[in-house]
Order: sequence, then C-alpha cells, then structure tokens
Amino acid sequence: MGPSSPTSSPGPAPASSLTAARRARELAGLAAGGQVDVLVVGLGATGAGAALDAASRGLSVAAIDAHDLAFGTSRWSSKLIHGGLRYLASGQLDVAYESAVERGVLMERTAPHLVRAQPFVLPLTRLVSRGQAALAWSGFRAGDALRLSARTARATLPAPRRLSAVETRHLAPALRTAGLRGGLLSWDGQLADDARLVTAIARTAAAHGARVLTRVRAVSLSGSGAVVRDELTGEEHTIRARAVVNASGVWAGGLVDGVRLRPSRGTHLVLRSDGLGGLGGLPAGLHIPIPGESNRFVLVLPQGDGRVYVGLTDEPVDGAVPDVPEAPETDIGFLLDVLGTALDVPVHRGDVVGAFAGLRPLLDTSADGSGSTADISRRHAVLTSPEGVVTVVGGKLTTYRRMAQDAVDAAVAARGLGAGPCRTTSLPLVGAAAPHVLSGLKAPRRLVQRYGTEAPAVHALGAADPALREPVVPGHPVTRAELVWAVHHEGALDTGDLLDRRTRLGLVPADRETALKAAEEALAGA
Ligand SMILES: Cc1cc2nc3c(=O)[nH]c(=O)nc-3n(C[C@H](O)[C@H](O)[C@H](O)COP(=O)(O)OP(=O)(O)OC[C@H]3O[C@@H](n4cnc5c(N)ncnc54)[C@H](O)[C@@H]3O)c2cc1C
Repeated sequence: MGPSSPTSSPGPAPASSLTAARRARELAGLAAGGQVDVLVVGLGATGAGAALDAASRGLSVAAIDAHDLAFGTSRWSSKLIHGGLRYLASGQLDVAYESAVERGVLMERTAPHLVRAQPFVLPLTRLVSRGQAALAWSGFRAGDALRLSARTARATLPAPRRLSAVETRHLAPALRTAGLRGGLLSWDGQLADDARLVTAIARTAAAHGARVLTRVRAVSLSGSGAVVRDELTGEEHTIRARAVVNASGVWAGGLVDGVRLRPSRGTHLVLRSDGLGGLGGLPAGLHIPIPGESNRFVLVLPQGDGRVYVGLTDEPVDGAVPDVPEAPETDIGFLLDVLGTALDVPVHRGDVVGAFAGLRPLLDTSADGSGSTADISRRHAVLTSPEGVVTVVGGKLTTYRRMAQDAVDAAVAARGLGAGPCRTTSLPLVGAAAPHVLSGLKAPRRLVQRYGTEAPAVHALGAADPALREPVVPGHPVTRAELVWAVHHEGALDTGDLLDRRTRLGLVPADRETALKAAEEALAGA
C-alpha cells in the first residue's frame, strides 16, 4: 500500500529514505542552478503536505527547512486528529466539517497506522452543572452527526454514550469519587506522534521525487525562488523555482511582507504514568472542564509509553518568535490546578517531569491585534503576495492535507504550471496499510503504530544485532534500533533530530540526558 517499503539498513536506499548523503547530493544539484517547479519553505505538517501534494501531481519539488522535519509547531500539538467539535460549538460549521472529513481521510485511507480511535471521558462532577452536561452531550451527538456526514465509518469512531459513575471510574480510576454522578464518553482520532506524521508525509513526498532538505534556511523569497543558507556549512545558494510556497508557520510573516500573525501559546505537561493514582494507566483520555468556562477543557492524554500529557493553554504571545517556546510556570500551575479539580490524588509540581509549549500560527484578522486568541478562527488562509509567493497559514495539523491542496492549487494558478489534479485524499503515507494488514504484521504493536508496514524491518534490526533491541532509556520503550532506523531512513542528522523529533525521548530532560550517548553511537555507526 505504501509507496515503498525499505528493508533493514544499510542496503539499497529506497525512494522514501532520507539520508545525509541524499541531502548533500540534492542540495548540490539545486545550488548548481537546477530549477524546480515548486519550492516549499517549511517542513512542518503543512509544508511537507504541500511538497507531497505538488510532487504527486507530477511537479518537480524542493522543500526546505531551516532546522529539521517537524521542528516547529507541528511537534508541540496535543496529537489529536479531531473532528472539529469546538468549531461546531462556535458556529463555524465549514471549519468543523473540513476537520471531520480530513480526520476520516487520515484514519481510513492515508495514515491508519499512525492515527487510532481514542476514547475520552468527560466526568460529571459537582463542578459540571446539569445544563453544562446537557450542552456537552448535545455537542458530542452533533460531533457524531458530523462524523456521519463526513462518511467516516462507525467502526472507525464509535458513537458517544452516557456512562454511569461506576463505568466512569472504571475507565478513569484516577477520578475523585465524591460527587461523581457519571460521565460522557466520546471518541476522536489520536496520533501516535505528531512529529512522526510529518516524517511520514515528508518521506512520502521524497518517494514521489521531492527533494526534502533539512538545515536549509530561506534567507529571502521572491516569486522565482529563494536565497538559502546551508546551515551545516554556512554557504548561501540561490534555488530557482517557478512557484514558491511559504509554509513556515508562525515564522511566515518574517519572510513575506503583509502576513500578520497573532501567535498563541499552548502548554502541555509531561507526567510519568506510574504513581499517579491510576492516572497513567488510563485506557481513556479525560476532558476536564475548566472552571468558569462553558466550552473549554483541559485534556489528559495517555501516550501508552509510560507518559501522560496534560494540556493545554491558549495565551496570546507578543514579541519575537523564539525557535523553541518555553512553557512558563504560570501555565504549569494553571494546568495542575484544573487537574486538581477532578482527581482523587493530587498531582504536584514535583510530578511534572517535562513540559512543552507550542505557538499556534493564527492569522491576525483583527483591526488592532487585540482580543483573546481562543476566539480567533482556526480556518486556514492562502495568501498570494504581489510578487507571487503563496503563503499558507493557520489551520491545524488535522487539516494539513487540505491546506496543502489549497496552497498548491493557488501556486499552480498563479504561475500557470502544468499539473495533474490533487491526489492526496487517496495517497497512503509511508507505512500505511489496511487495518487487517497492519494487525498481521510480525512486529510489536507499538512499532506498528509508529512505523506501520516498516515495523518488521525496524524490528529485524534487533534480530541482526541484539544490542539494538535494548531500550535507550530504562523504563521507556524506544529501542536503539529506532535510532539507527532514523539515521538510515528518516533523515536524522544529529542527536536533536533523534531524541526530539524521530523519537520523543527529549520531552523529559532527564531521559534526554540518559539517551544522548546512544544517539551519538547511532550517528557514529551510520
Ligand atoms: C499547543 C498546541 C496544540 C495543538 N494541538 C493540535 C491538535 O491536537 N490537533 C491539530 O489538528 N492541531 C493542533 N494544533 C495546531 C497545529 O499544531 C498547527 O496548526 C500545525 O502544526 C502548524 O503546522 P505548520 O506546518 O503550518 O507550521 P510548523 O510546524 O511550525 O512548521 C513551520 C516550519 O517552518 C520552518 N521555518 C521557519 N522559518 C524558516 C525559514 N526561513 N526557512 C526554512 N524553514 C523555516 C520551521 O523550522 C518549521 O519547521 C496545536 C497547536 C498548538 C500550538
């Protein structure tokens, strides 16, 4: 089903494999004066999606990122592929419908290996009035109707249902019993990992001939290409292109005049699942209502790897955009406080083993840049500058494919490119296969959920060299084989790529420290 299926490394490199050698070769070709149809700037979900969209329409493509695949906002999400319930509540039916359609595309066609159905419990505690519960229930019912209208099968996402207090406690044993009168169960899509989605999209683009180049920064853009800097050597080159797509997320305004963004920070906590009064062993996620707000929740998101994320905030951010946003103590305190309203055993600051923050690239549509970012539309925008650079911003991870399609449509129209129709609604990403194929693969389930049809090849690395079966960090499932795989097939160039994006060991600073040596060894052995 996938475009190519690599075997264990090193071997002959399949078309989807990204390596340091391939990067150097392809960058040299472009620097020597080669021209592409489309240059995409930014390799988050949106840019990787645009590269795949354009390449699969038969266009020649170069896609660059100043850092790495998924270096920006795309790795700081809640990892939900969601049906847009929130947008429904705020009356943005078109945004909600688009989300629901894209969720179905990912879960049923393009990435069933990476997105699973996740149950969520909304506990009906003393803090949730009967009126609020009725409102939430009608929202979940409307969400299910949206699923139906988006033609996503009931088998993919089960129906919401009311839970008794006993059922609620069974699904979420960490909840406080006193005053718990039941719960509401709903389902949404949950990614194994957002950065892995981006890697899969970028590699699928590469399999269709796109040149996917990390550590290449766009210094300036024009309608006919870009001046870029190779961040590994410091050398500057010109890449000539017939069309340019700016998908640099929250940094987009720095490359094209007139693009005004209003970034909003979202923070998540990382907790270890053991010792939290059953919080970590949760089969279900939790929606915990934020006191005083009618339609906002703190999410408890079990990751299945011994970690639980708790998020998220929505705070406007002013000033220069940092490469890696910091999670402030005020956000951490807020999340712990809301968690404390629902749990039996309190979670303390000392239980927080990591925290991460991301900046939503929201388009500023207000006259004066004021107002709450929680109210800014998550609708995406495609803007073509007078020079012909197409900028695509806003939206969300869930709708990356549609954003990419709209951006490439605009570039094709602006530049009169001869391109085929968009194919990405039915184009499986690297590793994708039908559920019955995935469940028959001879590899641990966890690997299948991250590597799909490539899982047996990742697993086989450990058969060839038992040392590679060893966990990188005691108590966390990532093995050394995954680091080696990332170097040979997923374009990992340094320890940061390995620990912070191809795997997420780096989300816990103590684990990152422990893993550093193994990452260096994986790179040295390449
Ligand atoms: C806290 C939080 C939680 C979220 N949760 C969800 C969720 O659960 N589900 C969902 O659907 N959406 C979610 N979102 C929204 C979603 O994460 C973003 O909308 C999406 O990831 C944006 O992707 P992007 O590719 O447009 O931008 P980015 O991922 O930021 O990519 C932009 C890239 O451009 C590169 N770049 C910047 N400048 C240059 C340059 N000069 N040259 C070359 N490259 C450059 C950067 O290095 C970066 O990799 C969340 C957002 C936040 C902040």
